[in-house]
Amino acid sequence: MARPFTRYQQTKAYRNLTFFDIARLSEQEAWEMLKTLRWGDGDEVECPECKMQDKHYFISTRKQWTCRNKTCGHRFSVTSGTPFSNRKLPFMKLLMLVYFFISSTQDRSSNEFHAQFGATLKTIFHNFAKVREVLFETMDPTPLKGIVHIDCAHFCGKPRRANQRKKTDSVVVNNKLRNRKDAIVPDKSTHPESWNLEKLKNRRIALTMSQVDPSAPKGKGSNRTITLALKVESAASILPLIKKYVAKDALIMTDSGSAFKPLYRELGIAHEMVNHSEEYVSFDGINNNMAESFISRMRRAEFGTYNGMRHQYFAFFAAEFVWKNDSKRMTMREKFETVFKRIFTRETSKAFCNYNHGRRLPFEYIH
Ligand SMILES: [Zn+2]
Repeated sequence: MARPFTRYQQTKAYRNLTFFDIARLSEQEAWEMLKTLRWGDGDEVECPECKMQDKHYFISTRKQWTCRNKTCGHRFSVTSGTPFSNRKLPFMKLLMLVYFFISSTQDRSSNEFHAQFGATLKTIFHNFAKVREVLFETMDPTPLKGIVHIDCAHFCGKPRRANQRKKTDSVVVNNKLRNRKDAIVPDKSTHPESWNLEKLKNRRIALTMSQVDPSAPKGKGSNRTITLALKVESAASILPLIKKYVAKDALIMTDSGSAFKPLYRELGIAHEMVNHSEEYVSFDGINNNMAESFISRMRRAEFGTYNGMRHQYFAFFAAEFVWKNDSKRMTMREKFETVFKRIFTRETSKAFCNYNHGRRLPFEYIH
């Protein structure tokens, strides 16, 4: 049997919103559901242009409102001014798409899902990506407290083997290539080919900080995570971020990576290290397993679900896994509603608006 993400997700209470609850909705019912998710019950809605809340003029044939504010007069729909503005998908399919997004444990492959869903790969990708972008933009930046497990992991920019196997380096290189570590954290010395050096430039590092409540019963895991995308794993790139996102009175636990070594000296935050070449948990309980298991879930998705992530959007993928971790004790309905609440606090997508017309994010969210 598959190993569940948490035991809670096996309970009946967790399954309080199913695929069928969404699939059987008519377009009208799906529209009403979206309207309630955005503005609550009642006839008052907020104009996205002038922010005036009122019973605006409703044009029932178009399911649109005209703003009552004389100086505004903006016409808007239930998705106007949100990441899903100018949507082409029917309302029911939009709900369904978000439902599939929230109900996956290691995310859904757009490649596999688009045919099942009856839309193009691009449509599925950019709609999932819009939700990821929202989760990234609305990630809670409050400094983490209590015990904070920290680790770094390398993603994207995977090299490939050369066509010809050279005799001279066959033993060293091929042994290294078979080594899992080398596939995950590739080394310039084993991949000196020009195309691989280009690929290695796309490598991104996820700095993962997982908060553990020291008073919580054993086995509860972490209750909040912050993950940031980095280009280089070094003390100079990591320590300023730890300073910003971890409270001064926290206790940090990491592995013995060199980037973490000057942590206490530089920041004055209590710091314990576990030597992974000897043990995963020290006899007095020092470990960074919450960060390790977070990374392991992302890693499995990288190889098993996505077949690789685009480095330009790496911060968004990381934010999705942060949300998956932090929402693990929510019911399906709570997940669905909180994700929509977060979607409706955001304006039009910066990265994926007009994605189908070739527009791309001109920068990358990276530290
Ligand atoms: Zn208005």
